[in-house]
Amino acid sequence: MTAKRYTFLDLASVNAPYSAALSEAANRVIAGGRYVGGAENEAFEHELAASCGSRCCVGTSNGLDALRLIFRSYIELGVIMPGDEVIVPANTYVASVLAVSDNGLVPVFAEPAPRTMNLDTSRLEEYVGPRTRAVMTVHLYGRSCFDDALVRLAQRHNLKIVEDNAQAIGATSPAAGAGGSHITGALGDAAAFSFYPTKNIGALGDAGAVTTDDADLAAAVRALANYGSDRQYHNIYRGLNCRLDPIQAAMLRVKLPHLEEENGLRRDIARIYENHISNAAVVKPLFCDDSSSVWHQYVVQVSDRDDFRRHLAQNGVETAVHYPVAPFDQPCYCNEFRPDCPIARQIASQVVSLPVSRCTSTDDAAEIAAIINSYIPHQK
Ligand SMILES: *Cc1c(COP(=O)(O)O)cnc(C)c1O
Repeated sequence: MTAKRYTFLDLASVNAPYSAALSEAANRVIAGGRYVGGAENEAFEHELAASCGSRCCVGTSNGLDALRLIFRSYIELGVIMPGDEVIVPANTYVASVLAVSDNGLVPVFAEPAPRTMNLDTSRLEEYVGPRTRAVMTVHLYGRSCFDDALVRLAQRHNLKIVEDNAQAIGATSPAAGAGGSHITGALGDAAAFSFYPTKNIGALGDAGAVTTDDADLAAAVRALANYGSDRQYHNIYRGLNCRLDPIQAAMLRVKLPHLEEENGLRRDIARIYENHISNAAVVKPLFCDDSSSVWHQYVVQVSDRDDFRRHLAQNGVETAVHYPVAPFDQPCYCNEFRPDCPIARQIASQVVSLPVSRCTSTDDAAEIAAIINSYIPHQK
């Protein structure tokens, strides 16, 4: 008898329902003969901006470049100076931090709240100094992280709020952004999206975008992403090449209209886990049955993670860890930054991501929950 296997993520299955439409869109681009920039990008940018309620959108090569371009643009516009500080969550993917340090800015690592694993907005004041110019909120694991405390802090200290929205496309916050939208990507001053294939809306390669209501910022991002050129053969910045490929824009235009459905599938699985997992050794993520999380990952915390993952693997359940090492403990940062972040470190040592994608049915999720409930921690 071969035991059932529960796949963590299989991208071919994720894209299978869209296969015909993706092929048609790819053929449209191939036949159109425009392989950099053009109408496909413009249409996608309008559609993404509309989906979150932002005024401007610029497609980019990936999510890290979207974040890098936001900070570089603030520097070019004189809003932020090299050497200034940016508050970043201590619990995030390393790319959030790379975008800051790459621009000669100083990341200041802020502790997460243990329940949400996102920035603890009630503690942010302790990280603000005379050179703080911005705070990056990362809507990690798909949970929006934006509230009145964050807005008040930004107003009090004249800080830009930059959203890393790589994981939370379509999520909402109880608090509204300045433009009135409650949707991530339109909450702060500027936001970065990633369409890396594993994200809730994934391209068939790398892709990203910047959204903002600030037309000057959008113009700077667009120019910087295109060699620093504001019009042909006229370079106002020493720019980069970080453009969105139209073939990826076309792929994303197929999938973006299905955002609600895709996020709904994830919420259905999260609800099953929430209702069925009842093992005292397993700390579930704070549950919300609304769109304040789009469940990019369903992340539990277990003190003996290796033992727990072994039990799941023996029962056919694939898991992942997002992320085993906090960014400030990575070899590229640990010699320069030694923040006092015990909560972030504890999270890094205990998190386990359960399958939550199209590859997992609600029946699978209930079976996985039963396997989790049969886990007995090893006595030490
Ligand atoms: C994926 C991700 C990024 C980087 O996006 P890429 O498109 O892979 O460059 C940045 N921040 C977070 C939180 C991410 O999950």
